[in-house]
Amino acid sequence: MAERIICSKCESEKIKKDGKRKTENKGLIQRYKCLDCRTRFVVDDGFFRMRNSPLKITQAVDLYFRGASTRGVQGHQGMFFPHNASNVSIYAWVLKYSKMISKFTNKLKLKVGFEAQVDEIEFHRRKSSKAKLGTEKNFFIDSVCPQTKFMLSSEYMRTRSCRDIKAVIQRIKDRTDTQIKIMTTDGWNAYTNTLKKVYGYNNKTGKYNVVHNRVVVSEEQGNFNHPIERLHNSVRARTKVMRGFHGSINSANAILKGYEIFYNFINKHQAIGKCPYELATDLKLTQNNKWIELIKLSKTSF
Ligand SMILES: [Zn+2]
Repeated sequence: MAERIICSKCESEKIKKDGKRKTENKGLIQRYKCLDCRTRFVVDDGFFRMRNSPLKITQAVDLYFRGASTRGVQGHQGMFFPHNASNVSIYAWVLKYSKMISKFTNKLKLKVGFEAQVDEIEFHRRKSSKAKLGTEKNFFIDSVCPQTKFMLSSEYMRTRSCRDIKAVIQRIKDRTDTQIKIMTTDGWNAYTNTLKKVYGYNNKTGKYNVVHNRVVVSEEQGNFNHPIERLHNSVRARTKVMRGFHGSINSANAILKGYEIFYNFINKHQAIGKCPYELATDLKLTQNNKWIELIKLSKTSF
């Protein structure tokens, strides 16, 4: 992956450096000039036209995924930064940067083990902050590689129909090619056919290209006791303090995408002593503030 700077107007690659621009929140930033159309521009590093500094914004996002509420983040930052951002702005940053980074991280090719565990969490999403509109039952479907602990795919969805599950399974296949040989799921029926459809049948071996390891657990056992369950405990602990999602399904999905980024790229996993991305991808992050680095990569890498 390389960084490429192109003209913001005509997309020409014939550009030259053209001094620096002084900005209030980011200090001096490099300015460029296009040799084809003469436009002068700065590269959008993901913070273009934001009124707050990258440090403050990424600190807010980080605190949020570590468990603080948007009001908690606001209270914390009010002590350390001159202009206090509203909790509404903080929520908007969480959504914006979660979506931005996941466009980049979703494209990374993975090197993982032979098994993928897939499971779902049921959520009751409040349709609006007005209680009388009631709740809707939704599902968060996700998958983890037990070897690298990397979260392979996740999606927050209205239902857990075959079509919804297919989106998650298809993304696992797209990102891991033929690496996955065993897919472990719970007893939910929709998985069997979806796995067959996505992975297909091999006429030479007379078998499906992936073995479906269906684990039916009793009520009193309660769980698989697998890495996927431990991941789910963390997701549940994080979302519990949000007192359920409210608002649109897209916002809920964006927040969980952000959690996926936090889980895979930011937070050190105790069982492996590093972040899952370090085992499962070729990506090298070198800066202390990995949020800023990922945001920049999502804007400039191709
Ligand atoms: Zn140009």
